[in-house]
Amino acid sequence: KTTPKGKPKWLRVKLPTGKKYTELRSLVDKYDLHTICTSGSCPNMGECWSEGTATFMILGNICTRSCGFCGVKTGRPETVDWDEPEKVARSIKLMKIKHAVVTSVDRDDLKDMGSIIWAETVKAIRRMNPETTLETLIPDFQGNTRNIDRIVEVAPEVVSHNMETVRRLTREVRIQAKYDRSLEVLRYLKEQGINRTKSGIMLGLGETEEEVIQTLHDLKDANVDVVTIGQYLQPSKRHLPVKQFITPDQFKKYEAIGLDLGFRHVESSALVRSSYKAQKHIN
Ligand code: SF4
Ligand code: SF4
Repeated sequence: KTTPKGKPKWLRVKLPTGKKYTELRSLVDKYDLHTICTSGSCPNMGECWSEGTATFMILGNICTRSCGFCGVKTGRPETVDWDEPEKVARSIKLMKIKHAVVTSVDRDDLKDMGSIIWAETVKAIRRMNPETTLETLIPDFQGNTRNIDRIVEVAPEVVSHNMETVRRLTREVRIQAKYDRSLEVLRYLKEQGINRTKSGIMLGLGETEEEVIQTLHDLKDANVDVVTIGQYLQPSKRHLPVKQFITPDQFKKYEAIGLDLGFRHVESSALVRSSYKAQKHIN
């Protein structure tokens, strides 16, 4: 059944297993490491961790924005921890991560919007883990190119910024963000020579097929290389409701449309999250 009453069977998640997963899990618990994979109880943990991919969040866990889909707390963020870059780099080393995804809350409260810590984190990771490849999933930095340039200068293999939804729903879904500004950020990153740019959207928020396809066209126009498409799931009752569960066939259809448009990679299925299969997106 595909009504929003109960979750359809394709959204049932296998519990993570495997030797590598068990090893990493005990490291994370022992050293109190912070990954989005565990804090967001991501359904793909078994798979990602056994491939050596994990996602780390920097700049604290309180966000200045209040997107309607997001489980992160909104409020006045903590003071910046200047040791954070080293801590994240050490976690990546301890966990023997081959491909690290780094993301952050939005820090509209800071003059540099967190971009200095961002750059320092990438540098510390490179220093301590020269073999590890990197994806930075960045905020829009309010479109400020001085801040975006700090990311460009440290040259992560992949830079992503998520549109999250179609144009019409952007106001409701990401209240402080703008659809065109996000597209501009993506376009700018590519113009500055970033190797792979990437963006993700969630489905099931009330968008139409036509709107999804339009978003794919807009991303292609912004020269984006990789697109991820997954099912939105409500983190709690206070968040936006799921309007629709998208069927596996519909996800496949979007994947085919995306590949036809010429994206290098399109990950499109219900449990796809923006860092799912992230390692392959460097190629
Ligand atoms: Fe972690 Fe992202 Fe993989 Fe989920 S999809 S387990 S958050 S790396
Ligand atoms: Fe969540 Fe990012 Fe929106 Fe903050 S900006 S509420 S972390 S999605």
